[in-house]
Amino acid sequence: MANWNLSFDYAAVFFLLLILVWFFNEKMVPLRSHRAFLVLLINALASTVLEIVTTWMGRNMDTVGYNAFFFALTLSNFAINVTSVTFTFYILQLAHIDILKNKLQHFLFRAAIAANIVVLALNLRLHWAFTFEDGVYRISYASLFLYAIDAVMLTICVVTMIRFRKNFQFLRVLPLIFTLVFCVIMALLQLIAYIPMLNLMITSVCMTLFHYQQNAGTVTDMVTKQFNRRFLREYLYSIFSEKKPFGVIAVAMDDFKFINRTYGAEIGDDLLFQVGKYLGGLRASGTVFRLGSDQFYLVIDKRLSQLPFVAEEIRERFHQPWFTQNGTSVMMSASLCYIECPKDADSYDSMIDTLDYSVSFAKKTKKGGITYVGDLDLSKLRQEKRIEKAIQLAMDRDELMVYYQPIFSVEQGVYNSAEALVRLNDETLGWISPEDFIPIAEKNGMIVEMGEMILSKVCRFIRDFRLSDTTVQYIEVNISPVQLRQPGFAGKFKQILEDNNVKPQQINIEITEMTTINSSAIVQQNIQDLVDFGITFSLDDYGSGNANIDYINHMPFKLIKIDKYIIWDSFKSRKAGITLAYTIGMLNALELCIVAEGVETEEMREHLTKVGCHYLQGWYYSKAVPDQEFIQLLRRPVAH
Ligand code: C2E
Ligand code: CA
Ligand code: CA
Repeated sequence: MANWNLSFDYAAVFFLLLILVWFFNEKMVPLRSHRAFLVLLINALASTVLEIVTTWMGRNMDTVGYNAFFFALTLSNFAINVTSVTFTFYILQLAHIDILKNKLQHFLFRAAIAANIVVLALNLRLHWAFTFEDGVYRISYASLFLYAIDAVMLTICVVTMIRFRKNFQFLRVLPLIFTLVFCVIMALLQLIAYIPMLNLMITSVCMTLFHYQQNAGTVTDMVTKQFNRRFLREYLYSIFSEKKPFGVIAVAMDDFKFINRTYGAEIGDDLLFQVGKYLGGLRASGTVFRLGSDQFYLVIDKRLSQLPFVAEEIRERFHQPWFTQNGTSVMMSASLCYIECPKDADSYDSMIDTLDYSVSFAKKTKKGGITYVGDLDLSKLRQEKRIEKAIQLAMDRDELMVYYQPIFSVEQGVYNSAEALVRLNDETLGWISPEDFIPIAEKNGMIVEMGEMILSKVCRFIRDFRLSDTTVQYIEVNISPVQLRQPGFAGKFKQILEDNNVKPQQINIEITEMTTINSSAIVQQNIQDLVDFGITFSLDDYGSGNANIDYINHMPFKLIKIDKYIIWDSFKSRKAGITLAYTIGMLNALELCIVAEGVETEEMREHLTKVGCHYLQGWYYSKAVPDQEFIQLLRRPVAH
């Protein structure tokens, strides 16, 4: 042992000190696992330093004496042995397992440390764990008992990692397991071949942990230096699992885009930094998170009764100006919402949903004010969540249906096309209107996958029912702006058509005015790609938004579909009737084809034909029907 090469230990000390410097240089992460990591680091450092000291003492036995050396050797053994305990403790904290609450685990940990102390203390006399004679270090039978404890601890680690794998992210576990395996190999090497590399290996585990798990840099937001959204999940998950009551105040900046536009992004960032710093410095001492661009969450887990007063204090602050670095004063407004958990929401997801919903509600109705979530009617949000589940279930089970509503061509006297309309029938909620579920699917992004499913069904319908052999030349498919905002949407669209041998002329896309007003470069690119591919476009719900005619001229529309409410109004009021007649005249003059939606009566059919609509769609002809029924409908003579 006296001739051990200590280079590995020196390297370990160097790296451990480096990790400690990094650790203390970063923001303190308020999680028990973070503190447990520090314990592990200190344990590893103590173990390495003791190994160096012991080796040094072994080399200078004459001066330090055998007893002092043997005592140091015992301490060194203790330090390295308990690393398995501190490591396992850390892993349990990562999995959000509170060992203080679990009696068995609590006992196991205490017993493991006590066993180490007893065995090693008695070893001073009994020499039953290890001996050091004539410069040779030998392990003895009691050591096997201590190795068994290490094995139990490592088993607990592995079982925890597998059982609670949801709490660890896969990528973080993989390097950990890799380095752990090396640790076991090194322990064996140290025992058998006396190569003192175990401490260095433990250090490399600490390094891996720091990099993947404990590095506060990955959980803080660069602009405000506050915690980011990713960490919010982990933090709240740990508070929820501790069943500790806590409150959250959402501070949502109003019209922050305006600030950015007026003062520039750099000053905008600085103002956000100041808001974050202010929230962190409040007397209520909560943990601050920055969510998205202009929203903060302040999580408070002490003195919850103070919550409304803290909110009031923040609101007052927003009545005062904020100052930019060059001294300009800026007034900012923020809408505040607060929630108490688990009273108002008992899981992370429901808390986020409730607070999100409340913030958007507050921004609309109580800008700059304070809203307590418990005072709001959350039935709409709950219904939205139920619908969201119904959509997911229907998509998973492939139960979304597509119905077809025929469109009558005045000129040809036949149904020359049809609109594909999605239908959803849920076991418990019954039929849900697309007007209710499409906006929800758009909000949570499900519309992207749903849109692809609908298009595939339409293509299969065209192919399987040989639509080209009927009077129906194309199917109108509604495309949401969210779909068009996806890069590569056009490519996917083409692929689905090609997979089903459907020609571009057999599909016509319906988009609303809102899709193209202020549209991004991606939307424009997608539209252009589809136009190049040979797809034609219809402008849906014309008249309901604020599209001006100049804008219609710049878009590649073949058809203009007049909104059914505009049509209905024209039969209710004379003025609306005149407006519609002129609108139709103008569209005709621009050589655009016009579709009238919502044609419900013979009177409407006759009038709309007379004023110059080219196509008619509505219940007068047929509601949207399932595919089989639609084919049968084509076989019957049209009522006109
Ligand atoms: P929209 O695109 O304006 O579709 C026309 C709506 O008017 C359909 O409602 C249709 O059933 C209804 N309708 C047609 N003729 C009449 C009539 O004579 N009287 C009455 N009272 N209603 C009539 P639906 O199917 O409930 O769809 C509502 C909206 O949901 C659609 O409005 C569209 O914006 C959206 N939507 C439906 N299917 C899809 C889809 O596959 N994808 C997307 N992105 N949106 C869809
Ligand atoms: Ca439509
Ligand atoms: Ca429409």
